[in-house]
Amino acid sequence: MIKILDALINALEGIEIITEPSHVAKLSQDYHTFSPVLVPKLQGKVGDMVVRPSNEKEVIKVAQACVESQIPVTVRGAGTGNYGQCVPLHGGVILDMSKMQGIPWVKPGVARVEAGVKLAAIDKKAREIGWEIRMAPSTYRTATIAGFIAGGSGGIGSIQYGLLGDRGNILALRVVTLEDQPRVMELRGDDVSKVTHAWGINGIITEAEIPLGPAYPWAEVIVTFNDFMAAGRFGQALGNGDGMIKKLIAVFAAPIPEYFHPLQDYIPQGSHSVFLMLAEPSLELLPGLVQQYGGQITYKKPVAQKSLNLGEFTWNHTTLHARSIDNSITYLQSMFPPDPNLELVEHMYHYFGDEVMMHLEFFRVHGRVIPGALQLVRYTTEERLNEIIRYHEAKGVSIANPHTYIIEDGGRKVIDPEQLKFKEMVDPYGLMNPGKSKVLEFKK
Ligand code: FAD
Repeated sequence: MIKILDALINALEGIEIITEPSHVAKLSQDYHTFSPVLVPKLQGKVGDMVVRPSNEKEVIKVAQACVESQIPVTVRGAGTGNYGQCVPLHGGVILDMSKMQGIPWVKPGVARVEAGVKLAAIDKKAREIGWEIRMAPSTYRTATIAGFIAGGSGGIGSIQYGLLGDRGNILALRVVTLEDQPRVMELRGDDVSKVTHAWGINGIITEAEIPLGPAYPWAEVIVTFNDFMAAGRFGQALGNGDGMIKKLIAVFAAPIPEYFHPLQDYIPQGSHSVFLMLAEPSLELLPGLVQQYGGQITYKKPVAQKSLNLGEFTWNHTTLHARSIDNSITYLQSMFPPDPNLELVEHMYHYFGDEVMMHLEFFRVHGRVIPGALQLVRYTTEERLNEIIRYHEAKGVSIANPHTYIIEDGGRKVIDPEQLKFKEMVDPYGLMNPGKSKVLEFKK
């Protein structure tokens, strides 16, 4: 093996390579640490070296050398994924795309960007011409665009634009294959779904073309409630209000807001809260709706004010904040069926009580606003966690299990046949992120 790796290093002359073991180990990690189930399963899994290409030509060179040496390749953006997507199960090369930070162009409504650009950087550039990225995970400051496309699902902005995988949210992807002669392919339109959310098993994304939305001045608001279901129904009503432009509606049952230490001045103890990002012109309409549901506005940050960013307490940042206080807490990812009364939410809220603390994120699915949830779970055993998941599923709540590193066992359930066909073509030796899918296994 050492001989093969030496040959690989020689073949990649001129490209940045990291072999120092502690550095390689660090870049073999991601945020699967949120899952007490994944931690023991992924312990000790490290790559043999990290390779950092600066352009597509270098990516092709790495692909070619890895195919020739039959070395596995685990592509990495910023490594903020939560399911061990970036952890190499069979060693090999960690292909770190973080140096590819170019933004070839931004036009009204669309941007072309390199794989390793951070989402916040794209947003900043787009805002210079009055546009913004449509959606971003709460990790937008660190996460890369290709990592989001290959590993994420949605986030701040999904209340307006739906999930990342929805038709039209990615316009084109440029991908390098791991064939005997690596090729560069441009996938456009519906073909992008061959690579989206494929966890880096279906080719190396080098560039993406993404649609932009009009840039609004976003105000941030905290509304608190004495009753959790009033908070939830307020969130649903605001979500349904098509005339009010919003980017975020996150609802937290008590005691979750107590984990947000910097915000304690704005959240009365024991209250349930809703965090909002609303276009400033829509703010005028808010107090009436808040009053209708018995809430109280306790914090309002106008656009111009630089201060805490509420988005960084929502989506899976909620779990991060909770775990910083109590690291036995883990989480679920759920989608409740559409229901204006949120009856199933209410049932789960009462049924599990403090063991499964309700955190809702409203987003748009096929034209309807529904509550997604990243409930915080007071973890006891894997068995109990699975029981909680099974109970939700039996009642009709869809769970994208974040406690597995196998794509098909998570949100996807089955690999799309088109993705499978594409995989067989672009990665015939099963070298890409092997072990993460049940299909086309890499032979060690
Ligand atoms: P990485 O973790 O580096 O990679 C993710 C996957 O993409 C891996 O399988 C990797 O192999 C693959 N990949 C990376 N680059 C490429 C490439 N160039 N070509 C092919 N495959 C590639 N996710 C959400 O969707 N919404 C959220 O709101 C959200 N909130 C989060 C909050 C916290 C605190 C944390 C820790 C995670 C959160 N996540 C969320 C998960 C994660 O941050 C996002 O999905 C993020 O977009 C991943 O980007 P990344 O650059 O870190 O990708």
